[in-house]
Amino acid sequence: MDSRTIGILGGGQLGRMMVEAAHRLNLRTTILDADNSPAKQINALSSHVTGSFSSSADILELSKSCDILTTEIEHVDTNILEQIEKEGKVDVQPASETIRVIQDKYLQKEFFIRNNVAVADSVKIDTPSVEALENVGGDFGYPFMLKSRTLAYDGRGNYVVKSKEGVPEALKALSNRPLYAERWAEFTMELAVLVVKTRDGRTLSYPTVETIHENNICKLVYMPARTTVDNRERAQKLAEEAIRHLPGAGIFGVEMFLLKNGTILVNEIAPRPHNSGHHTIETHSTSQFEAHIRAILDLPLPPSITAPRTSTTSSIMLNILGGPDPTSHLQVSKLALETPGATLHLYGKTESRPGRKMGHITVVADSISDCETLIAPLVAATSYTPS
Ligand code: ATP
Ligand code: MG
Ligand code: MG
Repeated sequence: MDSRTIGILGGGQLGRMMVEAAHRLNLRTTILDADNSPAKQINALSSHVTGSFSSSADILELSKSCDILTTEIEHVDTNILEQIEKEGKVDVQPASETIRVIQDKYLQKEFFIRNNVAVADSVKIDTPSVEALENVGGDFGYPFMLKSRTLAYDGRGNYVVKSKEGVPEALKALSNRPLYAERWAEFTMELAVLVVKTRDGRTLSYPTVETIHENNICKLVYMPARTTVDNRERAQKLAEEAIRHLPGAGIFGVEMFLLKNGTILVNEIAPRPHNSGHHTIETHSTSQFEAHIRAILDLPLPPSITAPRTSTTSSIMLNILGGPDPTSHLQVSKLALETPGATLHLYGKTESRPGRKMGHITVVADSISDCETLIAPLVAATSYTPS
């Protein structure tokens, strides 16, 4: 299909599912991460690099064994990516500038504001102190969200400041991290849209999904989102607008809040495949992972790729998280194998920890209510999840 080798920064579950998609198309992938990481387990090659996506030397090493570099995670060293880009021997997609803007959530916010994309009011906190946070509380009211600008995932880096009295605890929880604060978004639903950006700057979007988080971690994803067609279409438009000005190609996950008054705000974006798009492996002929690969290599991406297999195709995805004992997640996995319409994905993580994403299950049917019936026993079987 293409003789270029794709180097992937990060070998977690997203990298693993990218590799699965690439292999079906006879495309070669080489991974930078720890030995035996999920993506390496299914990709027997001697050219993988053992190391970290945050190390410039390791990224440079990976660039020697590939023609195009991409990423499954935004917390990568962007200075070295920029240098590789400038040298021009190895392509970087999406562009280092895009990853740099996204990996700092406050720079991301500024980028959206510059491009007239609606986001929650945000304020940078250069010198964290009780006084600085009380000033934020005075402006935004309580609760407000205190966030680490960098290295955030699964809500690790977020703290809800519920009242003036909660300020010292918030400072303690996020000490030594670069911070900003966000006005509380009174949402009725969280939405997400996967947007594909092509090499020639076109944007295509998958249907709007509804994401349900528990303890800041995505638990369930409903496709389509259980809201009006108008809301779903507005979310797709906003998501495409949010990534239109970011340089480079690839797939982007756009997380949004649907507010009580109908306004939709962008929460954050990811420059890579996203947890809210895992169902596309089953519901679409071209998954988010394959779309990413096609986008970065400039392979065909007709608009039809974002349409579900049929006009009634519906799905619910359930994340399988690590539980109190090392095999908790395997019980729900076994149940998934007995469930009609369910597909199980386990990620090959050797160690289970409470709250760690160990796998996911997608159920597909012709209506959301049929999906709900199928998934209910599986959701019940994940009640071990810490709350
Ligand atoms: P991810 O794993 O998606 O990268 P993250 O650590 O980057 O998570 P966010 O996406 O910023 O964290 O926030 C996690 C969740 O916290 C959101 O999905 C939402 O439920 C809630 N949240 C975030 N910001 C706000 C806000 N301003 N107002 C209300 N709730 C919020
Ligand atoms: Mg995030
Ligand atoms: Mg998020």
